[in-house]
Amino acid sequence: MQTPSTNRISPRVGLGYDSHRLGAGGPLRIGGMNIDGDFHAIGHSDADVLWHAVTDAILGAIAGPDIGRLFPDDAAENAGRDSGDFVREATRRMTDAGYELLNLDAVILAQKPKMAPHIDAMRAILAGVLACDVDQIGLKAKTGEGVDAVGRSEAIAARVVVLVQRRGSD
Ligand code: MG
Repeated sequence: MQTPSTNRISPRVGLGYDSHRLGAGGPLRIGGMNIDGDFHAIGHSDADVLWHAVTDAILGAIAGPDIGRLFPDDAAENAGRDSGDFVREATRRMTDAGYELLNLDAVILAQKPKMAPHIDAMRAILAGVLACDVDQIGLKAKTGEGVDAVGRSEAIAARVVVLVQRRGSD
């Protein structure tokens, strides 16, 4: 694989996707927040589906290894781990490769709970971790309309795209 820092492609797009099963009992960890409710996302780390998708989108933009290669889900040091660590490592690699974030757009797929009251808080938290402005972060939530695993509240998912550019290229 070509080393991103040695090529001249800019801007570059990155795509991230993740899903987790849901289990009984809250809170739900998502977007760096704990949302009270009846269920939680099941995972080896803190199971923050949005931040996992963000991590893979950033890593994808620089043609880097994915989250599973960097942070294996059978490694003891990743048990219960704060997914902020994953976002920060992806951001560090992006910076080291000579790139900066232009914008990020994300969608959370969840039948419940209502995400709308938390969207702006999640945007602000993520902007803080990414050291960017809030208006570089787009975020919305969709339900599963009662169908498929998301609609039956068996799972939660997130899709994220990012656009990055070589620093100093504008
Ligand atoms: Mg995950």
